[in-house]
Amino acid sequence: MANHELRTPVAIIKMGAQLMKRRGTYDDRAVDTILSQTDQLGRLIEDLLATSQIEADRLELRLAETDLAVEARGVVEHLQLAGRAVRVDVPAEPVVVLADRQRLVQVFVNLLTNAAKYSPEGSLIVLTVARRGSEAHVSVQDQGVGIPADALPRLFSRFFRVEGTAARVQGVGVGLYITRRIVEAHGGRITVASEPGRGSIFTVILPRSEPKASDTPDH
Ligand code: ADP
Repeated sequence: MANHELRTPVAIIKMGAQLMKRRGTYDDRAVDTILSQTDQLGRLIEDLLATSQIEADRLELRLAETDLAVEARGVVEHLQLAGRAVRVDVPAEPVVVLADRQRLVQVFVNLLTNAAKYSPEGSLIVLTVARRGSEAHVSVQDQGVGIPADALPRLFSRFFRVEGTAARVQGVGVGLYITRRIVEAHGGRITVASEPGRGSIFTVILPRSEPKASDTPDH
């Protein structure tokens, strides 16, 4: 499956470049295609590299204080989600966790691209970041195809894809596997709630690195 997913974008990128070379003109649509295919290929390579690191028990984390509210806004600003609108709901105050920023971005990107891939064009995706006591909650909600209950226990396994709904969409089935491993490596957990035909909500829960309100002196 990965063979096909790796070769297709390379072929499309090459065709776009050849087209422009043959015509000797700049073609905006061809360039957009090249850029989106390059992004897709880049993400797939990142996911496959992360998978092999996880398999070798070598997922390295470079931890630093990271504001989830800032990261959420940054990811949405840079991600192309093909005709799906994204609402970002973050609090005004920072939501700081001790995390590997790049890995966290990978988590955001995986959940958001899935939300877009498995939902109809024109539908809404809601990304929420919130403080809940000593934890930070990040949720990605879509109005997509949803996930049947019997698939939920296997959803985070390597190479698992839901029969039927996933076949029409590009992917190799490692995104959620990596996502869960990254979240767990940060001492967190991930949950999913879904209703077939109505949509899904994935929630990542991480320990906050800020002092709890009860720990701060009140004078
Ligand atoms: P991929 O998208 O590459 O197949 P993932 O590991 O990211 O792999 O997801 C595994 C499977 O879970 C997908 O193939 C799809 O069937 C299902 N899935 C993931 N996210 C969603 C979602 N937001 N809505 C519906 N199904 C989803």
